[in-house]
Amino acid sequence: MFCPTCNTQNSATSVRCFQCGTTLINEAVQSKASLDAEKSLDARLYGHIGAIAGFVLGMAANAIIPGVLLETRYTPIASAVLGFAIGRFFAWQRWKDWH
Ligand SMILES: [Zn+2]
Repeated sequence: MFCPTCNTQNSATSVRCFQCGTTLINEAVQSKASLDAEKSLDARLYGHIGAIAGFVLGMAANAIIPGVLLETRYTPIASAVLGFAIGRFFAWQRWKDWH
């Protein structure tokens, strides 16, 4: 992270700036909280997009070949759940390197 006082780049785990000694831990806590918020928002967004896409695809599959995957009435729900899981997986892929 960058020191708020002298703008030197320090490692993410640094407690103090190695250049000027400014305490960095407050900033670390803050940015972690906002990062976590962004992360969970992102995961929710991806999950919802996946669920909607899955639902639409399930309906489309039903329209083209009724009962192609499961019983017709379960297909959109099952695809929505699957889409949700895939969306969450993409969000996880995107964020797994952040801690
Ligand atoms: Zn500094």
